[in-house]
Amino acid sequence: MRLGDHPGWQAALAGGGPVVPFFVLDPFVEAQYGAAPLWRLGLSLGALGEQLVSRGSRLILRRGDALTALRALIAETGADRVIWSRCYDRASIDRDTAIKAALREDGIDAISVNASLLFEPWTVETRTGGFYKVYTPYWKAVRTGDPGEPLPVPADLRPPESWPRSERLEDWDLGRRMGRGASIVSAHVQVGEARAETRLERFLDTAIARYAAERDRPDIDATSGLSENLTYGEISPRRIWTAGRAAMERLSGPAEEGAETFLKELVWREFSYHLLYHTPEIAERNWRPEWDSFPWRGESPDAEAWRRGMTGYEMVDAGLREMYVTGRMHNRVRMLTASLLTKHLMTHWQIGEAWFRECLVDWDIAANAMGWQWAAGSGPDAAPYFRVFNPITQAEKFDKNATYRNRFLAEGRTRPHQEALAFFEAVPRSWGLSPDAAYPAPIVGHQEGRERALEAYRNRAGAGPAGVTTGVSTA
Ligand code: FAD
Repeated sequence: MRLGDHPGWQAALAGGGPVVPFFVLDPFVEAQYGAAPLWRLGLSLGALGEQLVSRGSRLILRRGDALTALRALIAETGADRVIWSRCYDRASIDRDTAIKAALREDGIDAISVNASLLFEPWTVETRTGGFYKVYTPYWKAVRTGDPGEPLPVPADLRPPESWPRSERLEDWDLGRRMGRGASIVSAHVQVGEARAETRLERFLDTAIARYAAERDRPDIDATSGLSENLTYGEISPRRIWTAGRAAMERLSGPAEEGAETFLKELVWREFSYHLLYHTPEIAERNWRPEWDSFPWRGESPDAEAWRRGMTGYEMVDAGLREMYVTGRMHNRVRMLTASLLTKHLMTHWQIGEAWFRECLVDWDIAANAMGWQWAAGSGPDAAPYFRVFNPITQAEKFDKNATYRNRFLAEGRTRPHQEALAFFEAVPRSWGLSPDAAYPAPIVGHQEGRERALEAYRNRAGAGPAGVTTGVSTA
């Protein structure tokens, strides 16, 4: 959803003929996306459409099976080449591989390009030719890698003389599942390529130098916020990488460390795609099969209380409400909320993964799955299950003055913050929540929840000596 650093545009223009920018809303996408990412996708499409019109081009929209839609467009325009940006999850790869073969059979030059990763997952290999399962060696393998320079914005978009028919974005009603929440979350999104660029510049000017020291603090605006734009391709990781490398060269001491830590985080995103490509099941089931025998709980009133930000743990509830109101959640709090659900509440990570997918405007299939399996302990290079976050000490450590909690929690506050009240506006009335009600008691005591989880972990079926852990710790 951008013009800068877009290999697809470059390849299309290299063909010499006119270019028809085309987006197909495959039913599979609608089924896969939760309410917030689907709504946010619509905003991105709207912004790209306007950007293209301002440059004399257009975005043609069609809904339906991708191959059928492409064949129809090819018939209408006489196109002889189709170029698209690659996806890396199993279902998309299967779909796109079939499309490529079918179009080639039709005599069409079908080409896919990498527009969303620094390094293609199959190009980073261990010494023995395998893929990486642990982040640190992956980082070491790519940190001096060269993803190349970002490509320029094309000067001429070479529109066709006559345009094929387009469906109307409004008719797709991509925000239909957001209900009242759309007007509230819309105050927090930064849509489109220009906004993404501004976000990057602002981060480079104000926060990158202190990033290493402050990135874990949800009470201050210390991170880039770029995950939202990366999700929809409104900025390329290569653009961010190049800017981060330049900052590293410009800065020194702790500020240089800030820039390097930022690049390391960006590489966590790469790593999640590396894992998704090589082990697609990470998005669907326990990456470590031994976790299949863990007595995960399914849906329950506890899971519902967690979703509603009513666990009685302020830091956790603040995070879940932040997500409902802004479509985002700070990384530290994502880890904490995920830990409480999978450990204190022993609830399957898939329940949390699905709720994040429903609510996050930066929902990303690879990062979300990896994050959840990391928190649950079932993933590669995961936090060990016995590392149980203490939601109370985490709050004391990372939100000392309760600034973050006060921003998102209303109960018991004399003058609640506007965003804390917005939560009650956004949630379905059927939840029956009121800012004037008493704040709930903790859903389970920290010690009790922790012991229960550790006991289940020790006893899980099939836990041989390797599964028995003695070093119990609380993070
Ligand atoms: P910054 O701190 O500015 O980092 C820069 C970029 O690095 C981010 O934009 C992101 O692309 C990448 N990055 C940073 N941390 C991580 C990480 N831990 N894993 C992967 N990439 C990272 N991130 C998503 O983009 N989408 C998700 O759906 C998602 N779900 C998550 C679920 C859980 C349970 C956890 C623990 C983490 C999840 N993350 C997800 C990772 C991380 O929380 C977000 O990327 C980060 O909070 C985005 O904020 P930012 O852009 O300000 O990040």
